Amino acid sequence: MARTAKLKPWVGRTDESMPGIHVLLRLYAKQNGLCACGCGRTMNFERDKIDCDHIVPLRDGGENVEANLQLLLQEHHKVKTVAENVARGKERQHKAKAFTALRKPSFQSRGFPKPTEKYSAARGAMRTLGDER
Ligand SMILES: [Zn+2]
Repeated sequence: MARTAKLKPWVGRTDESMPGIHVLLRLYAKQNGLCACGCGRTMNFERDKIDCDHIVPLRDGGENVEANLQLLLQEHHKVKTVAENVARGKERQHKAKAFTALRKPSFQSRGFPKPTEKYSAARGAMRTLGDER
């Protein structure tokens, strides 16, 4: 017999709210039991440590709702978290650089060309002419 009951997608009351087991099982079914990172591995509740992950992290503006949740093998979740933190660090670095660029030119000035012998002589002549005026 097919289940026809349509449950409303879970919405966390607060960012700290944890989805219940029925939500996790629904996610598990939606993912066909596969880790959501794309590794193609089947997750086994008995054998594996499984994490419930926010697809878009809460600190990046993601919502604590079922549509933003996925199940990952814990070891793969850790990799994702590290990648997110690296990306966040790069973003910060990028912003810091952009801020610095506002204050000083991003290129190093080569300065004025060193006067060549001929150039100095011409300048000397100009100065002389100026002095005579
Ligand atoms: Zn995986």
